[in-house]
Amino acid sequence: MRTIIEPFRIKMTEPLKLTTAPERKKALAKANNNVFLLDAEDCCIDLLTDSGTGAMSAQQWAALMLGDESYAGSKSWKKFEAVVKNITGIKYIFPTHQGRAAESILATCIIKKGDVIPNNNHFDTTRANLEFAGAYAIDLVCDAGLDPADESPFKGNIDIAKLEKCIAEYGPGRIPFGMITVTNNTGGGQPVSMANIRAVKEVLAKNNIPFMIDACRFAENAYFIKQREDGYQDKTLLEIAQEIFSYADGATMSCKKDGLANIGGFLICNNEKWSHQFRNMLILREGFPTYGGLAGRDLEVIAVGLMEALEYDYQVYRHATIKYIGDKLTKKGIPIVRPVGGHAIFLDAKAFLPHIEPLQYPGIGLVNALYLEGGVRSVELGSVMFARRDENGVETASPMELVRLAFPRRVYTQSHFDYLIEVIEKVWQDRDKIPGYKITYQPEFLRHFTCQMEKIQ
Ligand SMILES: *Cc1c(COP(=O)(O)O)cnc(C)c1O
Repeated sequence: MRTIIEPFRIKMTEPLKLTTAPERKKALAKANNNVFLLDAEDCCIDLLTDSGTGAMSAQQWAALMLGDESYAGSKSWKKFEAVVKNITGIKYIFPTHQGRAAESILATCIIKKGDVIPNNNHFDTTRANLEFAGAYAIDLVCDAGLDPADESPFKGNIDIAKLEKCIAEYGPGRIPFGMITVTNNTGGGQPVSMANIRAVKEVLAKNNIPFMIDACRFAENAYFIKQREDGYQDKTLLEIAQEIFSYADGATMSCKKDGLANIGGFLICNNEKWSHQFRNMLILREGFPTYGGLAGRDLEVIAVGLMEALEYDYQVYRHATIKYIGDKLTKKGIPIVRPVGGHAIFLDAKAFLPHIEPLQYPGIGLVNALYLEGGVRSVELGSVMFARRDENGVETASPMELVRLAFPRRVYTQSHFDYLIEVIEKVWQDRDKIPGYKITYQPEFLRHFTCQMEKIQ
């Protein structure tokens, strides 16, 4: 088979600042050893997130110029609505400025204190919005999804027996809706099968519980279904996406992912009563219902981006780059979460740096080593982000210590990835010298964003 190439060429370039090792050492010290506090300019390959960091196509830039900035009923809204309706078949459509705004409107309109919301894994903003509204956010991902070495094809699936047990335990009256996240971001971008989506719908429908999809990576998930699930090989990604949404009563979406846009989102539903509640809250929080929190030009860009995300060649290339890196790292014996998901690679920092205690944050050791070695910015998903602290500040480590390399869409080319692999390999060779860290300052909530750290000598 021939090399799978980027299915685009480059019309506009953005320079990367190439830094020296002493410059990076100085920059990281100034950022108090927290890569969130670095200047983006000082990061040569920035893999902090795939959210809103993608490159737009020529068609999207052209569409941007067509933005109709009328306050109400603009042409751009009509295009946006038509595309979302074509993909999802869902009746009521509300644009929002990003995914969490959709989640917040859903949660504040529908949730009562003490409600329970099941999901495979709630994404962090979803969990925060549901809990803020008084609900318990419950994770019911299948057992394979909890084992980094398990090679199952659909590790994002909900465990149907656990879902039935959850409904029996709390009663359908306490569950205003159930959710599934495609792909399962928190679980490493692992896909959900169509069979599982169908089964979740059946169980929820039997109990008269509406079914909401967290659809941020619906196109990547559709690609995995085409590749891995019997009966879908001859369907287009659009047809697969349409079938996914045909089981849903509504969805929340961040267009910063598979909308291939830098900002935007939406909330959709079929229930008329919900639609009135959503519309009122949207006007209060985001804006008039035909623009939500967005400019007309953003609606244009998203309308084009949602369809581009469903182009087969684009998904073939995206998955090929991630698999390429994953396979090379695995061949070198570097521990990662297998199989690779749709938008990121997760290094297993516990296996990479067994000499660092979990509460001396091996994930941070690895993140900082990758930056110092090659200007690569990644993110820790381990005890700095997830450790539980009791009232005396005593910490219990997170079950896993991972480092995520998330890939912006259509931004980097294969030589960037070869460079990335070289950087990781050098860090792997020198791993015995990597230190643990201690936290010297931390805020009360979401400490990973702004905490300050020091090397343990
Ligand atoms: C990014 C994301 C969100 C939140 O979207 P924002 O646009 O960042 O507010 C919700 N769910 C999942 C699965 C996500 O990946």
